[in-house]
Amino acid sequence: MNNENIDFLGTPIEFLKGVGEKRGMVLRKEFGIATFRDMLYYFPYRHIDKSHVYKVCDIVNDGGYILLKGSIRNLQIVGQNRTRRLTAIFQDDTGAIELVWFNGLKWIEDVLKSRHEFVIFGKPSLFNNHWNITHPELIDPNQQQDSPVSLRFQPLYNTSEIAKKKSLDSKAISKLMINLLSSVKEYISETLPLEMVKEFNLLPLRDALINIHYPEDNQKLSQANLRLKFDELFFTQMRLLKLKLINTNKFQGHIFSQVGDNFNKFYKECLPFDLTNAQKRVLREIRADVGSGHQMNRLLQGDVGSGKTVIALFSMLLANDNGFQACMMAPTEILATQHYEKISKQVAPLNLRVEFLSGSTKTSVRKKILFDLQNGDIDILIGTHALIEDPVVFNNIGLVVIDEQHRFGVEQRAKLWRKSTTPPHILVMTATPIPRTLAMTLYGDLDVSIIDELPQGRKPIITRHFYEKDRLKLLGFMKQQIDLGRQIYVVYPLIQESESLDLLDLQAGFNAITQTFPQPMYSVSMVHGKQKNEDKDFTMSRFKKGEIQILLSTTVIEVGIDVPNASVMVIENAERFGLSQLHQLRGRVGRGPEQSYCILMSKYEISSEGRKRLDAMVETNDGFEIANFDLKLRGPGDLQGTRQSGMLDFKIADLAKDEKLVVYTRNLAQQILEKDPDLTLSEHKRIAETLRKQMQKETDWSVIS
Ligand code: ADP
Ligand code: MG
Repeated sequence: MNNENIDFLGTPIEFLKGVGEKRGMVLRKEFGIATFRDMLYYFPYRHIDKSHVYKVCDIVNDGGYILLKGSIRNLQIVGQNRTRRLTAIFQDDTGAIELVWFNGLKWIEDVLKSRHEFVIFGKPSLFNNHWNITHPELIDPNQQQDSPVSLRFQPLYNTSEIAKKKSLDSKAISKLMINLLSSVKEYISETLPLEMVKEFNLLPLRDALINIHYPEDNQKLSQANLRLKFDELFFTQMRLLKLKLINTNKFQGHIFSQVGDNFNKFYKECLPFDLTNAQKRVLREIRADVGSGHQMNRLLQGDVGSGKTVIALFSMLLANDNGFQACMMAPTEILATQHYEKISKQVAPLNLRVEFLSGSTKTSVRKKILFDLQNGDIDILIGTHALIEDPVVFNNIGLVVIDEQHRFGVEQRAKLWRKSTTPPHILVMTATPIPRTLAMTLYGDLDVSIIDELPQGRKPIITRHFYEKDRLKLLGFMKQQIDLGRQIYVVYPLIQESESLDLLDLQAGFNAITQTFPQPMYSVSMVHGKQKNEDKDFTMSRFKKGEIQILLSTTVIEVGIDVPNASVMVIENAERFGLSQLHQLRGRVGRGPEQSYCILMSKYEISSEGRKRLDAMVETNDGFEIANFDLKLRGPGDLQGTRQSGMLDFKIADLAKDEKLVVYTRNLAQQILEKDPDLTLSEHKRIAETLRKQMQKETDWSVIS
């Protein structure tokens, strides 16, 4: 590997034969292709297989594009004007089909007349009970024998309307790709040690990159796929684990050596329940981290209601006991407020000062809080993400807890490290479980703790799927629950395009419900995003106090709200919600000792995917199962909040489908780094080199490496 090679793949795309200024600009703008390397890694989404010749009798419905070999007869021009077309009969030894052309009739007629034998390529469709192919591609069978690779497997590339207008359709891109491959072939250097390529029976990178575009055969194509996925996943894991290593080695951590009065007193006197074994285990893991002298970077996973918050609180008390401040961030104002209220009440018997800070904190109050914070007079600060964005200066911050919904990526965490010379310990909590492969990637630089046990006495929530025709039954059921003294949530979906329409839905629902549950006999109320915070908070606090029996809302209550007496969650138009959102909503009930219910309302006709989601909800209460199912159903890119993280922008790997490879490459990366943390062994030279180049590109990370 030498620098000449690197430079050549970095050549601006304009210099590729057939590109030039104008097309270069389109490639850059539409596909982000700026260099030869970018183009090389612009993979086709699929291939048309011309390697196999089919027989007419093999044609099946929905079979896609195929190659047929036979003779052509009965050329005929039929129809008038717009329906004027050329038809012909194509025949092999098993049967016949019709061919049709609407354009270029004269030219095609000449070609057809010039020979007798043809190989045709196209997609058969059934018309009036007869197979036909419209506009088949005509291939000279003599040419087909020793056709270039390009004729056998045709790559299909994603393109855009704008690009097509500048005549950069898939075909044009595939032609450019031929030019590219022939000029860069010599310059593709291997990223992995040769021993590794051999050991894992991988295709060399150069062969893989050629075959992913123009495969020699099906086997080579799948080998190319595997090799490129391997590269992508392996180096992602190497980067993450290296980052983790750098963090542990580079950053001294504050040492919380003692368990002090706050922790002990809270444990003995304030905690109204026993911790579950899983909670105890996680607490031990955290204590080991913060006592180690290294900075903690830990992800706490646990299903809704598994009791993550109290773990966060214990961790903060530990910080306080050792003379440090702690803070806790939540994704929304409502949640942050709830954490604040609950925690300040819980620690009231302790001699601690807990404050709240968010974007809407009044200036005068804010000033005082910031002042006291810097003086060290505040022990625990709770708030929204404004806590780290703002010019908030702590006196001696020891621990940051992030309660979130996969919104806080590697880069944002890096921001925290930069805030002070000795960075605080970091505990990230997920709102719902995320699948293992996703966690390994999105949070691959963190250690993971899992609470895999719900507090004792929780009854599994009973989930039912109801249709509109069951509405009377639903209302009857709600009445029965209210008579038992329970409270009910009714949630309406948010359609972001039109908030006012959402409100109409909500208002209509409110009117309908108050007919069955007339005021003042019953107390029914609404919360939604358009209300002022004070109004929302007022309603929420009345619901918490039990003064409201039915609370209608849009998804503002989605995460974290904790009202143990609420035992019924009704979700309207449930088919419109994502699976993890449904599970999160369901997690709002089942928090007290009573049997809880989740009723999913939908119309009768819903998409098959929507039905799968609702079925999954009815079938299982397990958040980890739901998360895996969701990943399979939607793919990682669509999972809530993950898109902007950039960590999941794989070109070829698929976290849902390639789970085994993710785990495999992670273990491999781990083994390598355990043996050779600085990658100085000669056998790891290539890995070190590749990694160095990749990490250079990521500005945010380089700050901390
Ligand atoms: P989540 O993990 O979804 O954030 P919370 O921390 O909000 O869950 O906890 C859910 C509810 O369970 C809270 O009311 C909390 O006080 C309660 N809880 C937490 N741990 C236990 C436990 N070990 N035993 C009983 N109740 C618990
Ligand atoms: Mg929570």
